[in-house]
Amino acid sequence: MSFTYKRSSALFNEAQKYIPGGVNSPVRAFNAVGGDPVYVKSAKGAYLHTEDGNRLIDYIASWGPMILGHAFEPVVEAVIEATKKGTSYGMPTELETEIAKLVVSMAPNVDQVRMVNSGTEACMSAVRLARGFTGRDKIIKFAGCYHGHSDSFLIQAGSGAVTFGSPNSPGVTAGTAKDTLLAQYNNLEQVADIFEKNEGQIACVIIEPIAGNMGCIIPQEGFLEGIRDLCDVHGALFVFDEVMTGFRLARGGAQETTGVKADIVTYGKVIGGGLPVGAFAARRQIMDHLAPTGPVYQAGTLSGNPLAMSAGMAMLTHLNNNPEIFNSLAGKSEHLHKGIAETLSRQGIDHQINRYGSMISVHFTDQPVLDFETAATGNNDWFKKYFHGMLERGIYLPPSAFESYFLNDALSYEDLDRTIEAVDAVVGKW
Ligand SMILES: *Cc1c(COP(=O)(O)O)cnc(C)c1O
Repeated sequence: MSFTYKRSSALFNEAQKYIPGGVNSPVRAFNAVGGDPVYVKSAKGAYLHTEDGNRLIDYIASWGPMILGHAFEPVVEAVIEATKKGTSYGMPTELETEIAKLVVSMAPNVDQVRMVNSGTEACMSAVRLARGFTGRDKIIKFAGCYHGHSDSFLIQAGSGAVTFGSPNSPGVTAGTAKDTLLAQYNNLEQVADIFEKNEGQIACVIIEPIAGNMGCIIPQEGFLEGIRDLCDVHGALFVFDEVMTGFRLARGGAQETTGVKADIVTYGKVIGGGLPVGAFAARRQIMDHLAPTGPVYQAGTLSGNPLAMSAGMAMLTHLNNNPEIFNSLAGKSEHLHKGIAETLSRQGIDHQINRYGSMISVHFTDQPVLDFETAATGNNDWFKKYFHGMLERGIYLPPSAFESYFLNDALSYEDLDRTIEAVDAVVGKW
């Protein structure tokens, strides 16, 4: 059995004429793995149905949101009902208060939440709020962490000093880049050093508390706690970017699983149930700085629209009422982890598997993967062969070695075992 994707390739050729690179978000284009992207016709539960007539087991879940599987019935129903009543008014609705109440009850350490339309918007706004609150300009981010595509985050390590950011995309100005200081993930000493050298200038540290955008990387014991202390000592805010981890790892996200308190938390992905939603939340004292109460400006025509809010409400309500889902997901990713690890070891393939809750990634390297540099030691030729081999066998993995798999609870143990068997068949041919 080997799946083919002829119609997908034809659709991609046509798309490239009218859409830059054929896609509306770059990772979809398969640049990291080569070949043409796969076109989806529909999806249900754990499966994607492609335009080629193939059924794939899905491990990206739309990059996280579809934690309960595709076309999850309560969300579908909520969206249909909301649509009939009008999809946006640009005026307040009671539903916005209800979902805000629910978010605040699920997320630790926050009193208020502002809805936006994407994770990018949430992170961008969180940093503006941190700057407005502290009256400081500089931020610290970690190499390999992704916080959306706004200018302040498209920064790479400059030559020489690691901590001196330079733009990593044309269009980002040097002026913007100079206010973003870069540190290595899991390197607390470096963060302390940056704070010392920029005394009184750091508005916030922003981090993926469990990193998922350089593959899954787990914070080492004391790392997040240490940053928390440094922020307190130096009067900076600690921003948890929980766009990926929020409502995925636990009701209270990574704040709950790590026990570390954030000052501002950003959400996205799961919170929208598959519709475009982001959010940022904090204690009232911080949120009071936001317009219209305070001077920090932030707005959105479609923010909190009833269509998106009804999807998010249905999703969060289900997770809140059925928290055993988080254990179920963790059990499934543990099963996958063990199965793949056993297979790769038996086949003599160097690998590191990082897993946290329902986030998991396979790095083809013999070095522990603790930060962007060690993630980059992975053998990319192996990854490409692995990705395409799995795709030929009906398994859809993230098309980049620097992305985590996101499990969804519709996956059955049979699906997981089929996946492990596919790994065995793929690497057995190397
Ligand atoms: C996906 C992601 C974002 C960006 O969210 P978009 O909705 O794609 O703008 C920000 N931060 C993290 C950690 C993410 O995983």
